[in-house]
Amino acid sequence: MKEEISDIFPQLEKWVSGYFRDLENFPVKSQAGIREIYNRLPDTPPVKGESFDDIFKDFEEIIMPGITHWQSPKFFAYFPANSSLPSFAAEVLTSAMGAQCMKWETSPAAAELEEKVLDWLKEMTGIPKNFHGVIQDSASSSTLASLLTAREVFSEFSINRNGFSGREKFRVYCSTEAHSSVEKAVKITGIGRENLVKVPVNEDFSININKLEESIQTDIKNGFTPLCVVAALGTTGSAAIDSLEGISALKKKYGFWIHVDAAFLGTAFLLPEYRKYLKGIEFADTFVFNPHKWMFTNFDCSAYFVRDKNSLLNTFEIIPEYLKTRSDSAVNNYCDWGIPLGRRFRALKLWFVIRWFGVEGLKEKVRHHIGLAKKFHDLVSAEKDFEILAPLSANVVCFRFKPEGKKEDELNSLNESLLSSVNATGKMYISHTKLNGKYTLRMVIAQTDVEERHVLEAWELIRNFSKS
Ligand SMILES: *Cc1c(COP(=O)(O)O)cnc(C)c1O
Repeated sequence: MKEEISDIFPQLEKWVSGYFRDLENFPVKSQAGIREIYNRLPDTPPVKGESFDDIFKDFEEIIMPGITHWQSPKFFAYFPANSSLPSFAAEVLTSAMGAQCMKWETSPAAAELEEKVLDWLKEMTGIPKNFHGVIQDSASSSTLASLLTAREVFSEFSINRNGFSGREKFRVYCSTEAHSSVEKAVKITGIGRENLVKVPVNEDFSININKLEESIQTDIKNGFTPLCVVAALGTTGSAAIDSLEGISALKKKYGFWIHVDAAFLGTAFLLPEYRKYLKGIEFADTFVFNPHKWMFTNFDCSAYFVRDKNSLLNTFEIIPEYLKTRSDSAVNNYCDWGIPLGRRFRALKLWFVIRWFGVEGLKEKVRHHIGLAKKFHDLVSAEKDFEILAPLSANVVCFRFKPEGKKEDELNSLNESLLSSVNATGKMYISHTKLNGKYTLRMVIAQTDVEERHVLEAWELIRNFSKS
């Protein structure tokens, strides 16, 4: 006899509440070795169904040791993939319903809620009212959608129709600090990696506008068409902010497409003090930010905004007979707004999150994180054997251990081993990047429940290891 929901749910509830309660005590970064989990799993699937108790026991014993705890307040690595109680609750409901929300008719509430919460997001972050929003699975997919649309607009939709003629000579520009998803997108769109120009950055790691203009001019002279500039509002390495205003000014001269990648830092636009970085946004064609990073809405939920909805639809829309519905012209069928046909009901968790925290509550959390980062930054600056490696734009602190008398390559390996010793304790998790060739420790203070004590403990741990 198979268990019923009433047998399973109490067990899940007990486990989940225990997980949230004890989260801080788990080793943040999984300490599992290579193939340790794989080798503990049977080579063949069960022929007969197993009891839920047996499955659950293996989940706890085999799977859990191989999990890194992204919801731990001691998680300071990469960018967070934040969840929160309302987001979790919505995901439980979403998976219970298991609705496939590809078209309006396949669940009208999903389509209409998506339109409404993305309208809310525009108002919350200062994205112009004439943009249209859609939820994508990731910023990478959004950037790909943007470049595909740019390609079609600039080729008058002929590449969708006939493929490349061989005469197109498109160039795409981003800074050397832009995310790798831009390079991935130029490969996939057929524009070609050789046609991605990585423009040098200023001292603060934002794109150098003069160098950008020089590249554009040289390319035009050589018969290229400047297709798109990707502006990073918050680079992945150090959260550096490109001048959207500067890029927009160039657009007026050269007429390229602008895609804004604010995957992580976009959440900061909730705060009026960050809105100045959106100057020029009315000239952008597309904009992406990830509520699944810093806005407490668990992965996946990427908010993608486009100024010209028709170009997007003309790029992606395909309506075979079996998908035709009577309401098609009057509603948003979001399967035509991106790559996959099938779509999860992702707007529900965003709606729950915004209502649960309220706009004020969200702002408070974000300000709190930025304040903690300032504190950490000041502690590091005050320590003579440490060095700050990038200006603090929000809540990503880039720094390194720099004891006197060490050469650059020694410093790199010293910091690499500092990072791995600290992470091996399981008491915190940070990651790294390279800035100007320097191995850089990167402390991101953005986890939903992070408090001052977690940050102070992390700093103590780093300092102690640096001395040992
Ligand atoms: C994280 C990040 C991305 C990629 O986000 P995904 O949603 O994982 O695809 C792109 N750009 C920037 C600036 C990022 O920080």
